[in-house]
Amino acid sequence: MSRGSFFESVSHYFNRAAAFSDVDKGLIDQVRCCNSTYRMRFPVKRDDGSIVVVEAFRAEHSHHRLPTKGGIRFSPDVTIDETIALAALMTYKCALVGVPFGGAKGGVCIDPRTESEGFLERVTRRYTAELIRKNFIGPDIDVPAPDYGTGEREMAWIADTYKNLKINSADTYACVTGKPISMHGIPGRRQATGLGVYYGIRACLEHQEDMQPLGLTTGVAGKRIIVQGLGNVGYYAAWYLQNEGQAIITGIIEREGGIYNTNGLNVDAVFNHRKAEGTILNFPGAQNFTNGMELLEHECDILVPAALENQITSENGARIQAKIVAEAANGPVDFEGEAILSERGILMIPDMYLNAGGVTVSYFEWLKNRAGVSFDRMLSRHEELVKRELVEAVEQLIGAKFPGDQLPRLIHGPSEEEIVIAALEQSMTKAYNSLHRVWKERKLPDLRTAGFLLALERVAESYRHHGIFP
Ligand code: GLU
Repeated sequence: MSRGSFFESVSHYFNRAAAFSDVDKGLIDQVRCCNSTYRMRFPVKRDDGSIVVVEAFRAEHSHHRLPTKGGIRFSPDVTIDETIALAALMTYKCALVGVPFGGAKGGVCIDPRTESEGFLERVTRRYTAELIRKNFIGPDIDVPAPDYGTGEREMAWIADTYKNLKINSADTYACVTGKPISMHGIPGRRQATGLGVYYGIRACLEHQEDMQPLGLTTGVAGKRIIVQGLGNVGYYAAWYLQNEGQAIITGIIEREGGIYNTNGLNVDAVFNHRKAEGTILNFPGAQNFTNGMELLEHECDILVPAALENQITSENGARIQAKIVAEAANGPVDFEGEAILSERGILMIPDMYLNAGGVTVSYFEWLKNRAGVSFDRMLSRHEELVKRELVEAVEQLIGAKFPGDQLPRLIHGPSEEEIVIAALEQSMTKAYNSLHRVWKERKLPDLRTAGFLLALERVAESYRHHGIFP
């Protein structure tokens, strides 16, 4: 399938789910379509003084809740269709995990790997200025975040540009999320998407009745996993699966190829190897796959595509040997690939649910910026005092004292990161349970249909109360 039809693929999934709903046809059309897009071209100077025209986009898919929310992608291949498809997925994922935002996405057609830092900064600031000019950014309007090819550094430039070009109100920093901690970011945001992927896989693997037909036992421990992508999402997903879940990461795929070791690969060691050598290949003890796509088809329990869309298609769907495909990226399985995997009984954990951890923690960052106070500031000491009282009461009752080295762990008040991570865990687990319930109770073909249906009904419900003028 050509990349140009990513939105068609998302719409196909949406339509299939919509057939199970009794939502008004007109409302279904409204939920599906993209509300507004801004396509821009602007000149930017390269370091040598030459001028290059940069093409960029921002799509706001749904305004049923404000602000709209979604990352900005820097990639030479990004298109308006892809940006709209990703914005639509943002609408559905927010609805699914109960984040009260509409969906949006941005795309800038540049290659961050070959451009200088100075050029990237000029592009980011100019892009932000364009968004401000057209009212496509603001704490109550549209709030960008990192995506493929962007990170904390770019979010800091966006926040700084916004702050300097707009009135510097108390909640200015809520104009963008995924910022560095030193610039009003939130601890836990960096690992949030990958950690959410781990929580999502863990929640799925708890259901014995779903594991049995796949020939799998419950629980993450001991599962053999191949991960595609060692960027922010793939790295943290692999890290938590290995270190918290005790899974065996047998394969890791990057753009230059893949590596495989049946006994498992240490994720941190692979990460450091790639940093030092500039390639994932030739990792000690591992087998090289110069064509990474071949490793995607290798035997494993769980395949985690955590890179880009359209990785599993009609071309390779029949050769995928995983029992579960956990969609950490957005749109890694196109609808033709999906039909083949479904037919073959492979369970897919859909992207719109599985990678929602990033936007969930973005929501916490936005709340913190709006409130102007960190989550632990008001609570931590109080909780410590309450726990201390409880510990003292227990000590009195049992007539013995807790060992001194146990005490600090028992009574400490939570850090902001602990609060954020606990809330993320709850949100991912709760969302899986609703998804699973809808899948089973309404006898839907799969989790993805359940996800789209649930999201459609929630978005439609909020339209019922506002957003339609008589
Ligand atoms: N780009 C991420 C996503 O696709 C995060 C979006 C956000 O935090 O707003 O979900």
